[in-house]
Amino acid sequence: MTAEFEFIERCFREPFSGLRAKHAGLLPVGIGDDCAALELPKGERLWVSTDTLVAGIHWFDGHRLDDVGFKALASNLSDLAAAGATPVAFTLNLAVPSTAFTQLPDLAQGLLEAATQYDCPLVGGDTTRMVTGGPLTLSITVFGRSSLAHIGFLRSSAQVGDGLWVSGLPGLARLGLLLEYQRRGQLSAVLPEAEHPLFNAFLSKVPGHITQTAHDRLHRPTPRLALGMALRGKAHACLDLSDGLSGDAQHIARQSQCQLILNQDALEALWSKALGLAHTDGLADIHGWWLQQVLIGGDDYELFFSAPETASMATLASEYDLTCVGEVVQGQGVLLHNPLTGLRPVQSQSYDHFQPWASTP
Ligand code: ADP
Ligand code: MG
Repeated sequence: MTAEFEFIERCFREPFSGLRAKHAGLLPVGIGDDCAALELPKGERLWVSTDTLVAGIHWFDGHRLDDVGFKALASNLSDLAAAGATPVAFTLNLAVPSTAFTQLPDLAQGLLEAATQYDCPLVGGDTTRMVTGGPLTLSITVFGRSSLAHIGFLRSSAQVGDGLWVSGLPGLARLGLLLEYQRRGQLSAVLPEAEHPLFNAFLSKVPGHITQTAHDRLHRPTPRLALGMALRGKAHACLDLSDGLSGDAQHIARQSQCQLILNQDALEALWSKALGLAHTDGLADIHGWWLQQVLIGGDDYELFFSAPETASMATLASEYDLTCVGEVVQGQGVLLHNPLTGLRPVQSQSYDHFQPWASTP
């Protein structure tokens, strides 16, 4: 056997074989042949999403590859969650510089952890050498399923009168990222010097368990798959927060041709509650600054969606830790509503890969 095939056997075919066997009915052919085969029950729809991750852009070069593998699959599964689809399988394409060969078992281990946790077998892929000096690059394609009756939660489907909901605590991954840069002595790369005192003042209010969760959220995000499935027939537009609330919300506003109003009070109250503080107590000076960070922070992989006001939304809200953070009205763009100062436009500040000044993570 060539080294390449020995590697595929040891890292991918063998460790993932149990998971695929568990789903053999849906996956009659997996790794080892020219094609894999997916067999959906009659009356079901196939959903597909793909993402590419590059060392130095999507993760700190040198970061643990088990985390990288976990996050690569989890972030792809998050796209299925945002479509309300159930995972079926994924494929993995790798371009590997020779310097990274020895770490690939770690990458495979992280992928296997996420695959096992979210019950999504690996069914194939491709492995190639990267040119000398080039970055480790991986590309994942996930396949999901739903009944034909479920048409997804299109970004163009928000309707005037819908409430805007978010799961979990958006901004946690931003906190994790700022802490990571601070730990590396590179905070200035992501936060202007003038704002460092605000960050430190904010940190003094953050309990240890939140900083730990922030770290975990950044490196091992949780795709909200169960929530996505529970929203079938209930949500209109939905997306997962990968690039930051301010920019992601603009996608829904633009594609649905309506205006999204985000409620500043609701977002601040979420954080006050998480930090164990009475509303804005002791955070008055920094809340506005932190809110801005929450709006631009990516990588949360929480679901953000619009849904009509119904009794079942209230039940879902308590079951899945959902907060209503705004509403859909006639108009365009995304506005932030402050009870004291009124409405102001939210600038989209999401990460943009095509900006020449786009920096490393
Ligand atoms: P082919 O040349 O016919 O495309 P390959 O030599 O690329 O086949 O791969 C052999 C088998 O190993 C295929 O079944 C393929 O899906 C699988 N494979 C290759 N690379 C990976 C990978 N990174 N992850 C999972 N499966 C892989
Ligand atoms: Mg091939």
